[in-house]
Amino acid sequence: MGNADASEPPKAGFAAFGLPRRFMGGGHQTGWVSAMMFSGQCLCGQVKISVRGGPLRVGICHCTNCRRESGSAFTFYAVWPVDQFEHIGETAEFQGQRFCLRCGSHLFSADDREAEIKLGILSEAPTSLVPTYELWIKRREPWLRPIDGAEQYEEDRK
Ligand SMILES: [Zn+2]
Ligand SMILES: [Zn+2]
Repeated sequence: MGNADASEPPKAGFAAFGLPRRFMGGGHQTGWVSAMMFSGQCLCGQVKISVRGGPLRVGICHCTNCRRESGSAFTFYAVWPVDQFEHIGETAEFQGQRFCLRCGSHLFSADDREAEIKLGILSEAPTSLVPTYELWIKRREPWLRPIDGAEQYEEDRK
């Protein structure tokens, strides 16, 4: 899973080194953003993950599946191109969601294009990542407020 060391070719021209952007997705990555790196692990440390560069998007989801899977009120996650994602350690899977075989921490899902990482597993806490959208807000606990500036969806994104 994931190319071990696909170093990106240097981007030509000044356009690639624009103003630092917040890590709110958009796809095109500046040289500055692609120098970023995040790492994380499960509770027992058996599984470790890392991602290079800024994520494509950052969100939270309040749907009933996310509540059950996480055992919490919502999930907080970000999506990277799968070739910027690596992991080591043994995982098990249920409906595409991967978790540690030993401690059960819920970690990520990945297909041949994208990897979605649960941001609670990152070593950095709090993270520098800010959700730009919220899904299934009709399931949001009433004591949680909408995130300033984040797109709000009653259910999944259209
Ligand atoms: Zn573990
Ligand atoms: Zn969900």
